Amino acid sequence: MSPTAPRNWPAVSPDKSLTFSQRLTQIEQQIMAACRRAGRSRDQVLLMAVSKTHSAEAVQEAIAAGVAHFGENRVQEFAQKSLALAQLEVARGEANLASSPPLFHLIGHLQSNKAAKAVEIFDAIDTLDSLRLAQRLSEVAQTHSRKLPVLLEIKLSSEESKTGLHPQSPELIELLERIPSLNGLELRGLMTVPPYNQDPEAARPYFRQLRELREQLTLAHPSLCFEELSMGMSGDFTVAIEEGATVVRIGTALFGERGLPR
Ligand SMILES: *Cc1c(COP(=O)(O)O)cnc(C)c1O
Repeated sequence: MSPTAPRNWPAVSPDKSLTFSQRLTQIEQQIMAACRRAGRSRDQVLLMAVSKTHSAEAVQEAIAAGVAHFGENRVQEFAQKSLALAQLEVARGEANLASSPPLFHLIGHLQSNKAAKAVEIFDAIDTLDSLRLAQRLSEVAQTHSRKLPVLLEIKLSSEESKTGLHPQSPELIELLERIPSLNGLELRGLMTVPPYNQDPEAARPYFRQLRELREQLTLAHPSLCFEELSMGMSGDFTVAIEEGATVVRIGTALFGERGLPR
């Protein structure tokens, strides 16, 4: 598969005649059915709406429909969107009504030079993929007196276009040794993006590998937390839930097509 393949995988075409909350209801039913098949309870799986490329208004609609977690992949894009969201909230006078504010996760690659801005605008970084970035994020988080929740992004395939730590890499081992002393970070688990494939079943071995890696790491580092497994997207989230996902990241099936990848 060429590295330029559209990142809408597997092919998903949401029904455009449905409203956001109708699509949410459909996805909710699929999540519940997958949990039932896997003998898991619904509250073990968190739905993250991936709002990248979609407007602040679209995010607002999702919040109104009850979505509490969002995924964005670019610092600059979300910096603008979060300003627009703040203005929408003020305009509608909803700022004080929200029971618990929505949380925004960075799910795209982060360069160290954007770490400061990312810590300022995101609630969590789900794509920690180097020791250097970990050190930088921890430093910045500490200056804000924050403990920033992070997931380690794991690269399970050999695709060159992918970022993430190789499961057997010396860097991962070193990062796991150093992370307890990085006081600005709170390790919460692992995340992965399997290679593009039209067939959701093709992702299953990758999902399983991430779960097995978590088991190994939990044994090797009993004092660290690897609770979250963020895996599964619009085309394969039910497979991911069967394999143990605790977070599924759904964009296209909720918000519609994104058009060309950016
Ligand atoms: C875009 C993106 C998603 C959502 O993909 P869909 O196929 O639209 O659901 C999930 N995870 C990551 C890391 C992404 O970049």
